[in-house]
Amino acid sequence: MRSKVIAGNWKMHHGPAATRKFFNEFAPRFPGVEPTILIFPPTISLLAAAESRGGRPEISLGIQNIHWETGGAFTGEHSAGMALSAGACFALVGHSERRHVFGETDEEVGRKVGAAVVEGLSPVVCVGETLDERRAGRVEEIIVRQLDAALLGVPEDAVKSILVAYEPVWAIGTGETATVQDVEGAHGILRRRLAGVRGEGFASEVAILYGGSVKPENAAELLKVTDVDGVLVGGASLDPESFARIAEAA
Ligand code: PEP
Repeated sequence: MRSKVIAGNWKMHHGPAATRKFFNEFAPRFPGVEPTILIFPPTISLLAAAESRGGRPEISLGIQNIHWETGGAFTGEHSAGMALSAGACFALVGHSERRHVFGETDEEVGRKVGAAVVEGLSPVVCVGETLDERRAGRVEEIIVRQLDAALLGVPEDAVKSILVAYEPVWAIGTGETATVQDVEGAHGILRRRLAGVRGEGFASEVAILYGGSVKPENAAELLKVTDVDGVLVGGASLDPESFARIAEAA
């Protein structure tokens, strides 16, 4: 049985001071070890998050993006090793904003996933179709292609497991949530593909999260869906009260 994962992606919100304020309010509200709580602050706030989570290392931290190289002349980038030393254990890879705003390719996503697992971070690989792709009946083709490219980066003997987040692009930050049937269908496709490519044992270890306009009001329903092992929350993770209410729904 995989324990539920409640993850928050803060995007480009909450600098170090706002991060400290968030944790001062959130940490006491969430004294337990389950569900797994995972927060992706902006990179500049990782150290503040690590210091202010109130002696609660079970509130896990992740970086929103990494470079695949370990170091070098890559202005503005961060390596997996740097993220680890700043307190991160996870890395978001292939978020739709990275793919669609910054032009990240499937091949780059695979390289980043590889760098994360080799360096000891667990990658959370984001996949999802655009509205046009959904309307054209291409959901399975798109998410399987994105998943396959990410899996190419995972060595057979990887010690760190991966997580997958199904995030339909049309549901991110729009207030539109996928229906329970859409979510169950897409998560089933991903689980079967993981099993087909890497075997049942590997597939059963992978947590598959749903993301796209998750709020306190719809979290419980989504978390009950077959093959939904957690949620990846954007906007509603910025406020400690609403993020705690989503975590309480798990
Ligand atoms: C996200 O950024 O991954 C996300 C799902 O955003 P939101 O919850 O705001 O739709």
